[in-house]
Formats: sequence, C-alpha cells, structure tokens
Amino acid sequence: MSAVRAFVTGATGQDGSYLVEQLVSQGAEVHALVRGAEGASSTTPGESSLPADVHVHHGDLTDGPAMEGLVLELEPTEVYSLGGLSSVALSWQQPSLAAQVSGVAVGHLLKASHELQERTGVPVRFVQASSAEIFGRTARVPQDETTPVRPLTPYGAAKAYAHHLVGVYRARGLHASSCILFNHESPRRPQTFVTRKITVGAARIARGLQDELAMGNLDARRDWGWAPDYVAAMTAAARDAIGRDYVIATGVSHSVRDFVAAAFQAAGITDWEEHVTLDPRFARPSDAPELVGDASRARELLGWSPTVTFDEVVTRMVEHDLALLDAQRD
Ligand code: NAP
Repeated sequence: MSAVRAFVTGATGQDGSYLVEQLVSQGAEVHALVRGAEGASSTTPGESSLPADVHVHHGDLTDGPAMEGLVLELEPTEVYSLGGLSSVALSWQQPSLAAQVSGVAVGHLLKASHELQERTGVPVRFVQASSAEIFGRTARVPQDETTPVRPLTPYGAAKAYAHHLVGVYRARGLHASSCILFNHESPRRPQTFVTRKITVGAARIARGLQDELAMGNLDARRDWGWAPDYVAAMTAAARDAIGRDYVIATGVSHSVRDFVAAAFQAAGITDWEEHVTLDPRFARPSDAPELVGDASRARELLGWSPTVTFDEVVTRMVEHDLALLDAQRD
C-alpha cells in the first residue's frame, strides 16, 4: 500500500474503532477525531481504546471551521466520515443536532477535502458512512444504489443530505464514495441499541440477573451484518479507481423476533417467549418495515462480501456479554 494518511471521524465509535485498527494494521498513518476529554469513548471502556500509535485530535463535529482546519492542516490522503449521531431514537429528540453532526459537518469535511486536493494536486479519497435509513419506507425490496432516497426520520434526513453532498463533490472532481451501510453489529455496539440490549438481556437472564426483556416492535425486519466487514468495505471503496455509491449489506433480512430467538438460543434458553414482554414505549411508530440491501455492486466492483452469518454475529455478541458478566462475578 502506498503511503496512506487517514483522517477518521467517529474513531471512538463501534465502526471507527475497527476502522482505525484495520488502518493501523495496514501500515497507514492514522489521525483520529476524538470528542471531549482524552480517552472518552462511546463504547464500553477497555473494549476499543485507540491503538497507541494513532494521532488523536480533539474536536467537535459541530465546529465546522475547526473540522475544515484539521483536514487542511493534516493533509490526509483518505478521509473517513463516520462521526455523528448514530441513533434514530436520539435524532427524534434532537433533530437539529442530528442535522448538524450527521449532515452539515460532512459538508465541511467535503469542502476542505476538495480544497486540499485543489491546493496540493494530490487526490483525496473521501468515504461517507451513509445509512439504509436514507431509503425510509420504500416499496423496493431489496434496496440498491438506485432506490429513491426518501427518509422517514431526522437521522435518515441528515444522512440523506450528506449522501447527496457526496454526489455533489464527486461531480466537482473529488474521489468521494458513499457507503450505504445496512445494520451491522458487534460487541462494541452501545447498549442503547436494540440488538445489544437484546444480547445483554439474554445473557443477564441466562445468569439469573433479570427475568424479563421488554421489547417494542418484534416484526421490523433488518439486514444485519458484522461491523468489521462493513469497515473493510469502506477502505475498499476509498482505494477503488473511482468514487461511487455502494450498498453494503448481507442481502438477508431477519425480524427482531429472529434476533431475540437467536440471542436466547446462544445464551442456552429455549423458551424465550416466557421472558419477553411487549412494551409500546419501546416501539418506534415510523420504523421502516423491511430494510434489506442488494450489495451486488460492492461484490462485483470491490470484491467485497460479508464473512459472518447472522447466527454467528448474534452468538459472538451473546458470548461476549456472558463472558463480561462472568468476569464481573469473579
Ligand atoms: P457510534 O458507535 O454511535 O459512533 C459514533 C461516533 O461519532 C462516536 O465516535 C462519537 O463520539 C462520534 N460523535 C458523535 N457526535 C460527535 C460530535 N459532535 N463530535 C465529534 N464526534 C462525534 O456509531 P457506529 O455504529 O460506529 O456508526 C458509524 C457511522 O456509520 C455513523 O455515521 C452511523 O450513522 C453510520 N451507520 C452505522 C450503522 C450501524 O449499523 N452501526 C448503519 C448505518 C450507518 P463519542 O465516542 O464521543 O460519542
């Protein structure tokens, strides 16, 4: 690999932490945007602290001029835009913050990347972590890069704005790719997300620490993959000959009910229905009923494919949560 200098926003998140690890293992010089005090992380402490040789830059995505200044000063060859509000639920509470950090901030990063490329003549490769939520309630199943963008949530709308901006800067000559990521999970998923809430709940019930798991909608269907695979797709997109939009997905959908059943099975519990209650407070009224992606373009052009099955993703998360509980007991 030629000398890569990468700038990564969202480096303390689930994906950012895997991305930074992959880039470091490839020999890249990695610069990470970290919000707040040194060492702050959105994941469980100790699970994803950044590798020692990563250059940490403290800053906030709401500070557009500072983001532009960082890009211009660091002169990265690759920019990975992963930071932002990643929770749909939170975006309903703070729609303008979602717009700022997941939409407007991406504009600042793109503008600076383009300016840098113009100034130095060295290509800057930009990758945006977009989301299947830009498609909203679509009649097209599966969704691909040609599916109309019609978000249903403030999070989806902010991501849609950033997704369109990537296209705008690509047309201006920037090597810009938007990876339209479908759901992907790992033990680094924060517990505020339903998948991790389920795996932690199943582990706690298996160890006799709680009796019930309260759930909202069990019928929504999602396409769940393994986070490190999705991060690998982003680096592949950065290094392809041209920038494009790519759907990154497994192509297989499962219901939340399937996820619950798989998690309880991995925790050794067969009668999961006995432990799950339905609580409308956890239901999201405008949840898209089915999001499942067709990643044919990424398969064909990037040689990308998911490496971990749905059952294995759930099992790895539950096993991690069981091990954490057992370690706490010892
Ligand atoms: P995550 O774990 O929630 O990480 C979000 C990251 O953004 C964290 O590092 C967080 O920093 C940072 N961040 C948030 N607000 C910030 C601010 N104002 N200034 C600076 N940094 C800020 O999310 P993820 O699951 O890794 O997702 C990565 C990206 O992929 C996100 O853009 C998400 O929208 C997108 N995506 C994810 C999925 C998925 O299934 N995971 C699916 C589609 C798209 P702190 O550590 O300080 O909070």
